[in-house]
Order: sequence, then structure tokens, then C-alpha cells
Amino acid sequence: MTINEGKNVLQIVVEGLIQEAYELLAETINATRAADAGAKRQGVSWTGRHRLHVLLEAAEDTWRGLPDAVVAPWFLAELKTTLDVVRRWRGKPFWKEIKPSLKDPTHFKHTILKLHAAEHLERGGHKVEIVPRGKSASPDLMLHAIAGTQDLVYVECYQPSALCGKPSDISTKEAGSIVEKSMEKAKSQLKGKAPGIIAICGYNQSHRSLETLGQAVETRLQRTYRPNLCGIWLVTLGVILRIDKDSTSFTPTISANFIPNPSYSGRVDIEAKVPDDHPQLIKEPLIDISTDSLGSKDINLVTKLVTASNVSSILVKKAKSKVTRTGKLNIIEMPKQLSRAVVHGTGNKVPPLFEGEGNLDCLCGQCQAVLAKCAWDPSISNIVVECPICRAYNEFPPLPDSEYNRLQLTKGNYNFSDAVKLRRRVCIEGQ
Ligand SMILES: [Zn+2]
Repeated sequence: MTINEGKNVLQIVVEGLIQEAYELLAETINATRAADAGAKRQGVSWTGRHRLHVLLEAAEDTWRGLPDAVVAPWFLAELKTTLDVVRRWRGKPFWKEIKPSLKDPTHFKHTILKLHAAEHLERGGHKVEIVPRGKSASPDLMLHAIAGTQDLVYVECYQPSALCGKPSDISTKEAGSIVEKSMEKAKSQLKGKAPGIIAICGYNQSHRSLETLGQAVETRLQRTYRPNLCGIWLVTLGVILRIDKDSTSFTPTISANFIPNPSYSGRVDIEAKVPDDHPQLIKEPLIDISTDSLGSKDINLVTKLVTASNVSSILVKKAKSKVTRTGKLNIIEMPKQLSRAVVHGTGNKVPPLFEGEGNLDCLCGQCQAVLAKCAWDPSISNIVVECPICRAYNEFPPLPDSEYNRLQLTKGNYNFSDAVKLRRRVCIEGQ
């Protein structure tokens, strides 16, 4: 693949997203454009604006900025998941009644998250009903219990603004207040005898935030007496950077954690355990970029991480190099959100988070886990890695300029489920 074709791949993807948004949501976009432009002029921050316009703007900025920069890749992922969910639901009979709710900035987010929540429940084998509530409100969500009397369970979705804006770690205090508000909401909206679930929904939350929230929910539920509240469900949509053997992609994800209410005594049993075959991840990859064009000039594309291609592994018989050196990384404080490129790891394939064929193992400064295996000295520059074992923040310090090709990671959080393949003479560099 030539350099130009490499550029076009991402440009075509982004162009396709923008075009699809205008096709699927033309009416919503047109009806809300003037109001959003007004909000922007008045200096309303993006968290307070109509999210569809924020997402479109990020995509359009990326399109204009290519090949030098990808603007807020998580927004591209969210735009993709949003369009996917709209495409799947617009064919359904009550879409006409749901659609008007998309024009309201608050209800837009609310509706989209409810549709995701509904899909997640459907994948779990539930029969889900979406009940439109008219123009000015987002629809209600109900699900039928799988077994027994198939009683209806009401699901009330709540999106605290703290979970839908700029990704940042939430404090214990914030988590407590989010849970308190959701309990209030549950009181007013899940009244009556039918069992109900309150879903606290958000976007792009760190594992840390989800843990903090989960603990706040557990603590709060321990002292509640709500016989009809089945529990609280934490639902977040995010994006995972997927590293496959020879391609890298952003995949939209949904994470859902159900925390049962110990005082629930309704008729419907809630199966909180996610079955093994339950697809936690939405499988469609967002952007599939071939890395054939590595070594080309468009090194700023965050989507192009280094992976070894099949071709080179056939042509060059790889000998496992013997590690002769180890280096301990420096531990630093947790960086402020979005101030550095920070790599996190989840799953049983990490650590290591990076792997090459060099002779340097980079160890966690605290627990000595191997974070970069068989790296080369100039492989990683100015990147913070959260050790998947002990959670300490390790720093790969900035390296001086060299003749090596550089692949830039923009500031933000990256979640690796597998080790990124390092390549000789290619330096992954944090912005
Ligand atoms: Zn460690």
C-alpha cells in the first residue's frame, strides 16, 4: 500500500461516517443545527451541547486534519456506535415516535444510551420493549424476565453529566452523589409494585471510575430498603484499541455491571451473571487500518500502531532474541486526565503491553512486571503505562530526536488487551 492510499483509508472511513450521519439523521441534524450554533457562540462547552453536533464536528475536524491528526478518536468511535444503533433501530415500528426525542440535547443522549442498553439486554436473551413517551421525552425501557411469569421489569436510565462529558476520574464523593441522585430518581420513576432497575449510564469511563462508582453503589444499596428495586446497573460505552496480528482498530465497547440490591424481594429473579457467550463487546470494528504503510510519513495517526505484518514474518524467520538487559521504569504520580498518552491494560494477555524482538525488558518500577518485552532502547518515548499488575504509573521518558520513524499517540487513555508489537527502528511516542 502506498502512502496516499494509506491516508485515503482513514479519510474514506471518516467521510463515510459523516455521510452516514447526514443520511440517517438528516432531520435531527437540520432541526438542531441553528440552536447548536447558537449555543457554541454563547460559549457553551461541548458537554452542554447537542452531542450529535459535537460528534460530527470532531469527525469533520479529523477529516480536515488528516493525515496529521485524528481529533478525539473516542468521539469517532462514539459517532460510529451511535450511527450503528440508529441504523438498527430505525426500521422498527416505533422509531417514528422515538425520533422526535433526538432533537432535544438531553434526550438525544438518553435515547441513544437506552437503545444500547436495550440491545445489550437483548443479547442476554431478554425480550425488551422500548416505549416511546412522546416528543419531549426519551422512551422508557422495559424488559421481560426470561423465565417464570415473564414479568415486566422496568429499566430507568440515568445519565449523570459527570459520566457523559470529558473523561475524568470521578471522586468517591462524586460517585456518592451520583448514586444518591439515581436512588432519588428510582424513587420517583420506579414506583409501584413492578420490579425495576436503575441504569446509570455514561461514556468513556476509566476502570478506576467504574470501580469507584461500583463501590458507591454497593455501599448505598447495603443500607436501602427497596423491595422492588432489583439493583443498579452501571452501563458505559467506550472504545477499545484492538491490536490484532496485522491490524489495529478501534472497537466500540459496552461494559455493563449489575449490582444487586440486597433488599430486593420481588418475584422476578435477576440473573446478574453474564453468560460466557454473552458478547460484552460490540464486535464491529470501527476503523480497520492496515499497517502496511508503516514507515510512511503519516506517523501522527493514532490508529496506526506498530504491528508486525504477516509478510515480514514469512520472509524473515524470527529468532527469539535472548534478553540480556532489563531496565526499571520510574514510577510517577497518576497523570492528570488527558495530559499524557497513558496506556492501560486489561485481560489476561497483558502484561506485557509492548513486545518486540530487541533485547531490553522494561520492568514496572514497583512490582517488576515486564511492561515492555524485548524492546529496543528507542522503542517507546514519552508514554505513561499503568502497570496492569500493581496499578502503578510507569513512565517511558521522552527520548531525544533520532532518525527513527515515529508513531505518535495523542494525549489520552489507551486500553490494550494485548501487547502492541514493537518494530525495529520505529518509536512510539506520546504527544
Ligand atoms: Zn507493577
